[in-house]
Amino acid sequence: MKPKNKFQQRIVEASKTLPKLTDVQVDWGYKHCIEHIAHKTKKGIITCLDCGHRWTDEDITAEHCTCPNCKLKLKVEETRKRTFLDYEYLCVVTAHKGYQVLRFLYIECNMKVGEKAHYFHSEVVQKWIAPDGRHATMAKLRPMGFFVHGWIYHSRLEIRPEKTLYNITPTEVYPRQKMIPELKRTGYKKTFGKLTPFDTIHFLLAESKAETLLKAGQRKLFEYFAYDRSRKINGYWPSIRICLRNGYPIKDAQIWCDYIDLLCSFEKDLRNAKYVCPDNLKAEHDKYVKKRREWLKKQDAIDARRKAQEDEAYFKEIKSKFFGIQFSDGLIQVHVLESVDEIMQEGDAMKHCLFTNKYHLKPDSLILSACINEQRLETIELSLTELKVLQSRGISNKITKYHQQIIKLVENNIPLIQEKLAA
Ligand SMILES: [Zn+2]
Repeated sequence: MKPKNKFQQRIVEASKTLPKLTDVQVDWGYKHCIEHIAHKTKKGIITCLDCGHRWTDEDITAEHCTCPNCKLKLKVEETRKRTFLDYEYLCVVTAHKGYQVLRFLYIECNMKVGEKAHYFHSEVVQKWIAPDGRHATMAKLRPMGFFVHGWIYHSRLEIRPEKTLYNITPTEVYPRQKMIPELKRTGYKKTFGKLTPFDTIHFLLAESKAETLLKAGQRKLFEYFAYDRSRKINGYWPSIRICLRNGYPIKDAQIWCDYIDLLCSFEKDLRNAKYVCPDNLKAEHDKYVKKRREWLKKQDAIDARRKAQEDEAYFKEIKSKFFGIQFSDGLIQVHVLESVDEIMQEGDAMKHCLFTNKYHLKPDSLILSACINEQRLETIELSLTELKVLQSRGISNKITKYHQQIIKLVENNIPLIQEKLAA
């Protein structure tokens, strides 16, 4: 890929004079990244799969041994398997033309009983970081496919778009490192913890607060913000400063940041040690999670009420002309339900979905209630366009022994409704 901007052009230019990795570095990688194997047979014949040396030791029980010939530390494997493959990455941290450069060497080792090990290496990725944190990636191409390892070795190291696959976790980092002065000043200790070398070094260069965290021993916070760049450190900084001033160690950065977010939502003082440095972080965190949940529930109830009020207005608009309709056959009384509240009560009492399914908001439906002496019997849905009963249901959608009588009563009084429709 061609460089797309001036910065990338400068990186490409600088890379032209970057010396090749030395034989010493490559050999160090061979020795320290690859797991060297002592192949052991049942009879106790041991073969160093690195140099091919063979010896007998029936008593060997340890997991590791040292080859008497090449002096490599070997992992003892008693197996009938005769070929082994290992591939790993070595990272070399260096400086060139004012940039911090992380170079990743892919190392592959093919081992076969009875042969010397075959080693192969290729420098596949370089991460170039400027003192201000701007960065670019030069890399070889990857073969297509999901389960493949390795690279297209004859492809060239070129500027590539940023992808996580270039942010390599190496097996080992070459111990002799060259640093630009800007990195040296940050207190960088050559330790990466759970982070990749790029995340560590880039965070130190790009974010001036990173250095403060590291020097204050807030390693967990450092790792957290270096890893999750979407979580912005600036928003937490006033609270972090209180922790630093109080010597408060943050052991679980994720929980602490979530906790600060919670405090913020309750408008607590984020510069008050009483809040931001709790003795029992987990307990305080859980307390506020619970508070927040209750608050959200209350919010839901408020929303539901507001929605019901909005519904009320609409309900009145489309149904008010039918309000006041009631009739009786001497035993059963039927009346039109006249508010969302009434509909809601009817639905609750009758345990049906009248309210939840919003029948009352259907312009074509008129909802009536049939009772005897204010005791609810059935709820009736009537189609206003077809002027017929669509359904009439009692408690839990069952029908009562008055079902036919109710329907007949409603049908007899349809002219009342027709009259209102015409008005
Ligand atoms: Zn050996």
